[in-house]
Amino acid sequence: MFNYRFSRRVLFILFLLLFSGIRVFGYEIFYPSEKNYTTTYDYGLFVGKARSSESITINNEKVFVASNGAFAHSVKLREGDNRVFIRSNYSTKVYNICKKKEVTKVQPEFKEVVEHVVLVNKDNVPLRSAPEDIGFNIISYLFKDTRVIINGEKGNYYRVFLSKDKFAWILKSDITEFVNADKTPASFINTESQKYKNASIQTISFTKNLPYTVEDGEKEILFRVYNPELSENSVYTLNILKPRNYFYNVTLKDGLYTFKVSEVPKSIEDCTIIVDAGHGGTQKGAMGCLGDEEKNINLRIALELQKILREKGAKVVMTRECDGTISLKDRIQIAKDNDVDIFLSIHMNSIGNVAYEKSKYRGTSVYYFNRNSKELATILEKSIPQYAGTKRNGVRTASFAVIRPASYVGVLIETAYMINPLDSLLYTQENFAENVAKGILCGLEEFIQK
Ligand SMILES: [Zn+2]
Repeated sequence: MFNYRFSRRVLFILFLLLFSGIRVFGYEIFYPSEKNYTTTYDYGLFVGKARSSESITINNEKVFVASNGAFAHSVKLREGDNRVFIRSNYSTKVYNICKKKEVTKVQPEFKEVVEHVVLVNKDNVPLRSAPEDIGFNIISYLFKDTRVIINGEKGNYYRVFLSKDKFAWILKSDITEFVNADKTPASFINTESQKYKNASIQTISFTKNLPYTVEDGEKEILFRVYNPELSENSVYTLNILKPRNYFYNVTLKDGLYTFKVSEVPKSIEDCTIIVDAGHGGTQKGAMGCLGDEEKNINLRIALELQKILREKGAKVVMTRECDGTISLKDRIQIAKDNDVDIFLSIHMNSIGNVAYEKSKYRGTSVYYFNRNSKELATILEKSIPQYAGTKRNGVRTASFAVIRPASYVGVLIETAYMINPLDSLLYTQENFAENVAKGILCGLEEFIQK
């Protein structure tokens, strides 16, 4: 009896040890965080870490595992329920993903509206070339109390009349109808130009606040003010020759436009550079194969960059220096409050609803939005890989909020892919952040001094 009980206890302990051993040593999945979820995406991505001797299959497909255990794989989803089996020689996990059909929105119809004058009801109102909310169709940011003429509507937008052959779109909620509209034409007062330090400043003055656009052309910047006389052809244009590295901004007060084109200082000591560690606090950013969070890697790189830029004598402004939550709007405001010349946003890449390929989604890519930032993006996409050992992954345009303002040269650096096992071998190395920072500094020096 005693022996029986004893051996039963031994067996039980052995079983517990074995079971917990599998749990400790078996693979882990860090993304997705839920075992059951609903999506409209075409693919479901899985990233995780295997133990050294573990081989992984996902729905019977063998998955590449890097020497540190990192792996990533995506599964094509069909509409309805999808069961995904992740197997290793130690354990099996089952995920249930429900793919829902994306609801296609009914396109609203265009309707004529009796032409009349309305007022913009706040600052920074986007004026768009099409009635939809995408960054690339923004042609201007209007100021409060700008008088605009509307003559059509589509969905949530009014069509704005600018000149004989130029229309734009504004959100209905961004304007105020006013009953006794002042229909008297605005008149042109004067224009002046002056030089100040590294900037050329043009002022153009009217009796009312009017809509404007800025076009960044091949050699010059075209600043246009529309319909002061409420007629088809009344457009005022200022042409301003661009320096090689430049940024610009517009202010408006009581009909007086001030248009400033600045040149990036030619030495790094004279530059004010904002270093923006992406995400932070409750916003973790992308999740890596090893269970690491993007926000922490971004911060490490940002702090290294802060250090070496200061050593070079640059004035450095940080959007965060610790693990705190900060909005995109506040990051931009910090840049504007400090009159920065260059905005460097540091991120690590991930992928969304696409088929994962380990050679395609790997390495450093640099994004810009405005034409004035293309050159810096191009230089950095070459210089960072030289120091960090990453693959070059391309220079692209994207409508990210922090690089949308043209009032500085702004780029967003996706240093490497959190979800790429081969990149995870690099970004977990101790000197990775320092090397990335060196690559950024080298590119910056080339951009500034060229
Ligand atoms: Zn990010």
